[in-house]
Amino acid sequence: MGKECPRCGKETMKEPIEHNAISNEDKKTYICSGCGVYENKMLWMITKNMHNKIPKFQKELQKKFREKLGID
Ligand SMILES: [Zn+2]
Repeated sequence: MGKECPRCGKETMKEPIEHNAISNEDKKTYICSGCGVYENKMLWMITKNMHNKIPKFQKELQKKFREKLGID
């Protein structure tokens, strides 16, 4: 079991920390690879004007994560 990911809260973090993804939010916080992929996907969807296609729970995860980082 890895450490807890600060975005999804699951124990999905790899060792060493550099093997995880860096969040687009602050460009320095490590998050699990799954979250990294999803953050990129959300950014892409936003640029394509597809906000409404992003699952609600993913939007909420991102919102809580941003609050945790002190963004907004
Ligand atoms: Zn995660």
